[in-house]
Amino acid sequence: MKKQDSPYFSDSTPPSAHSAAIAPFPSRLPHVGTTIFTIMSALASESKAINLGQGFPDFPCDPALIAAVSAAMMAGHNQYPPMAGILELRQAIAEKILALYGKSYQPETEITITAGGTQGILTAVLCCVHSGDEVILLEPAYDSYQPAIELAGGKPIGIALQTIRDQKGQVTSYEIPWEQLSQAINKKTRLIMINSPHNPTGMVWSKADLDRLATLLANTDILVCSDEVYEHMVYDGQAHQSVASHPQLAKRSFLISSFGKTYHVTGWKIGYVAAPAELTHEFRKVHQFNVFTVNTPVQYGITQYLKTAAHYQNLPRFYQAKRDYFRAGLANTRFQLLPCPGTYFQCVDYSALTVPEAKLNESDFCRWLTTEIGVAAIPVSAFYAKPLESGVVRFCFAKQTETLKSALLRLQHL
Ligand code: GLN
Repeated sequence: MKKQDSPYFSDSTPPSAHSAAIAPFPSRLPHVGTTIFTIMSALASESKAINLGQGFPDFPCDPALIAAVSAAMMAGHNQYPPMAGILELRQAIAEKILALYGKSYQPETEITITAGGTQGILTAVLCCVHSGDEVILLEPAYDSYQPAIELAGGKPIGIALQTIRDQKGQVTSYEIPWEQLSQAINKKTRLIMINSPHNPTGMVWSKADLDRLATLLANTDILVCSDEVYEHMVYDGQAHQSVASHPQLAKRSFLISSFGKTYHVTGWKIGYVAAPAELTHEFRKVHQFNVFTVNTPVQYGITQYLKTAAHYQNLPRFYQAKRDYFRAGLANTRFQLLPCPGTYFQCVDYSALTVPEAKLNESDFCRWLTTEIGVAAIPVSAFYAKPLESGVVRFCFAKQTETLKSALLRLQHL
């Protein structure tokens, strides 16, 4: 099924084509409808299902963070901040990156506050990709990457992660296809988009992976857009491998991060991009004309809150407990659990379920699971430009234990 034919993507015919009130113009994104996350959240809410689809926590953030933002509003921090974000916040971010990854970014010239990770990614792509440039992305890829490349006039070159299967044909893991990646690089390649911890598969890059990428890119002018919004969700004692910790990659990378993910406030839409001064210079040229800047009181509130590292230091333990609880609940079912070394997403292969719906494609399976079983999930096929069905769906476990418990009760019947 073509993506645009999927029930999860809205009609891509412009309304004007129906009404003839205005002459239709060619769409900039002809194959794009509404995002899978919006569609599944709407279906979950309509069906009163437990929403383990779109990735967001169902528990509140620390009241101290709300108090810090409120205090900033009451103190009158309600007008435009500087275009790149308030300096205090950029300084706090620079200190944090230095402490965690050993790289010193200049707050004045190398860090920009963005309206979340997605805006950071779009802006990074728009500022460096020219018409006809090739941009490599590893699929499954977060759904904003390809449209961002297309809006810049670039050509997305999707390379599928290698799907590893057991003897029964069930998916057990994904691996980086280094050989194909190396073959895809040519003179037209402008940018490569990487994402660790990876949405949707949960896989994380190792230091050896970063080394291998650096070797591939040595002697090229290829830039890197490194989406690290789940940087504090890496489990089992592993360390997150940031491009910031790798000098050869850091010098050519836009590092994208998100406060929404780290502080349980996805609706605040705030993140940042760290990149060498030459890259940031171009980044800000675009940034100033797509959002100009990001709301002031939240910047002050987060600056206050960043002073205590305890929150993000504790995050791996906090989410690992949720991951383990959810996995233990699914362990006795016929769902095949894929590894989850990072992110707050658990992927499962559903092809061995005994219900007839196990034969459905991923989109239809998710629709059925939401409307009939009462648990929403995301089809992993939605993360590929050309549909690739592997019988795998994604659950988000950033939920209260009660929510996970109720969802497990429903899933255990299958
Ligand atoms: N990043 C979130 C996810 O993967 C969704 C964000 C969005 O809905 N745009 O579920």
